[in-house]
Amino acid sequence: MVISIASGKGGTGKTTVATNLAVSLGKGVQLLDCDVEEPNAHLFINPVFEKTEVIAASVPEVDEEKCTLCGKCGEICQFKAIVVIGNTVLPFPELCHSCGGCMAVCPEKAIREGERVLGITEAGRRGDLEFAHGRLRVGEAMSPPLIRKVRSLSKSDGITIIDAPPGTSCPVIASIKDADFVLLVTEPTPFGLHDLKLAVGAVRILGIPCGLVINRSDVGDDRVRKYAEEVGLPILMEIPFDRRIAVAYSRGQMLVDVMPEWKEKFLQLYERILTLVNSGKE
Ligand code: SF4
Ligand code: SF4
Repeated sequence: MVISIASGKGGTGKTTVATNLAVSLGKGVQLLDCDVEEPNAHLFINPVFEKTEVIAASVPEVDEEKCTLCGKCGEICQFKAIVVIGNTVLPFPELCHSCGGCMAVCPEKAIREGERVLGITEAGRRGDLEFAHGRLRVGEAMSPPLIRKVRSLSKSDGITIIDAPPGTSCPVIASIKDADFVLLVTEPTPFGLHDLKLAVGAVRILGIPCGLVINRSDVGDDRVRKYAEEVGLPILMEIPFDRRIAVAYSRGQMLVDVMPEWKEKFLQLYERILTLVNSGKE
């Protein structure tokens, strides 16, 4: 069972939902923070990290001795990541998507596989809860390969909860693709509604069942609720504004630790998700 927690925009409480759901469920659960540009779930989980891995992408390195400047590598590259300029071949590793095309077409076997470090993955645990995240190298723009690496740490049994990056672009798709359920977290404001619509569009294109958590549910207006009703998006949980929740967040404390009554609500949230997933399989 893979549940991705996503939101159209940042700051809606996505990490609060992901971490508290994971800790409430406890044993047999894995929490993967795929927000590799700004991972922050570990600040609340406080895991003991046991394993770190450097993740690199393969990029071309040209042997100028062998190169005849035929230009075939530049012709096949769709990303302008390798070009012949004058009497030299210039690879641009930051643009490379590691497809291997240039290496395959080079008639002189003048291109060997080099490496561009994308970032690291770190894996550990907090008690029974298993935790992993990725950290994108500063200056690196391509996060989906690192996100896929974090997701590859998912175990086939048990429950995997994924904290996806905000937005609706490639990193989000990499974090929600093939999930059993996507839980969207929003707030009842015009910005929240605008970005929620984009997120629902992306999730529905992928054909993944989804539901909604409304955070700070008693501020703003009821347009998010009306939209959810119109498009058949079930509202699975509402978290009202509470100063104690905001203070706990600012201190890096878990909601379920500070207000234990929320544990039962997160367990009920999981039961609702399970019901929706199972009803889709019938
Ligand atoms: S590996 Fe693919 S993307 Fe990278 S330079 Fe070669 S052809 Fe371009
Ligand atoms: S395909 Fe090979 S030989 Fe031709 S320009 Fe590129 S590196 Fe040089």
